[in-house]
Amino acid sequence: MEINLVSDTVTKPNFEMLECMFNAQVGDDVYKQDPTVKELEATVAQIFGMEEGLFFPSGTMANQTAIKLHTNPGDQIIADKNSHVYLYEGGGASFNSGASFSLIDGHRGMITADQVVQSINNPEFYHSALTSLVCVENTTNKGGGACYELEDLQKIKAVCVANNLKFHLDGARIWNALMEKKQNPKAFGQLFDTISVCLSKGLGAPIGSVLLGDKATIHRALRIRKILGGGMRQVGYLAAAGLYALENNISKLPEDHRRAKEIAQVLRKTHWVEHIAPVETNIIVFTIKPQYNEKLIVEKFKLKNISISTMGQGKLRIVTHLDYREVMHGYVLEILGKLEV
Ligand SMILES: *Cc1c(COP(=O)(O)O)cnc(C)c1O
Repeated sequence: MEINLVSDTVTKPNFEMLECMFNAQVGDDVYKQDPTVKELEATVAQIFGMEEGLFFPSGTMANQTAIKLHTNPGDQIIADKNSHVYLYEGGGASFNSGASFSLIDGHRGMITADQVVQSINNPEFYHSALTSLVCVENTTNKGGGACYELEDLQKIKAVCVANNLKFHLDGARIWNALMEKKQNPKAFGQLFDTISVCLSKGLGAPIGSVLLGDKATIHRALRIRKILGGGMRQVGYLAAAGLYALENNISKLPEDHRRAKEIAQVLRKTHWVEHIAPVETNIIVFTIKPQYNEKLIVEKFKLKNISISTMGQGKLRIVTHLDYREVMHGYVLEILGKLEV
């Protein structure tokens, strides 16, 4: 039994999901003739109470499209220093949009309205880059699955409105936040100009993201997606997996969160772990004591058929997901408790 806890992207479609894909009604989505893609886009838009959605092959392309929508070359984006849009999208903001970042030293990947205020360049001071966009991530990836309180996002929104800034949510794992905090997705829809959501993380679809916004914004996004090479043909086969995931897998996320918290409890009792970041959702980030070697620990886990990842500087990461089932969980807790490092 191979247990992969490296990421929640490692899941594979189950039989029922494959059956939905097999039976999907499709058409050429570049001509907007794929009924399953349209249904997925409308379904996600409706969940968040936003006007329209647009299907993307990846979260990266959806975020990059949002950045392109909201900036002109030379503009500056405000984001956390650990944000995915800054660290893990290949420098796409500069490649695609000619935009730079003003980075915030946030808390577990989350930023505050005060920090945003501090980061805005005076638009009259033409020596500086023009600040035009604020990006937040919820849950945070490198921040260890932390989630925002709605009020904190509302405060950032007020700053954006007062300073004429656009507000984008990288909601790759928004589903985890919604379930954990019992928040209403429509409250998020009211706050943001655009939201990107992933179907291929906690929800277990093989591929796919949706970008949400108002009608005019999504109309512009259609052209940008085409330019980036994201116009796809009979892609309803993949959208069908997304629809299945929305219907069946959102409700399973609390199980991932429970298992992550149980793993953290066992880690807390080991002699080789120094610190565990608070576990809010499905990501566990922990630091080992300096006398231990993180690569060696990963190898020890591997010998027990458990894959986890290193984040450097003595930090390790475990991510629970849909394909991590209760039998595996029992085994992992047992191994964790008695691993000789
Ligand atoms: C995974 C992820 C994305 C997008 O990832 P893709 O692999 O391009 O689908 C964007 N933001 C965050 C926070 C993520 O974790």
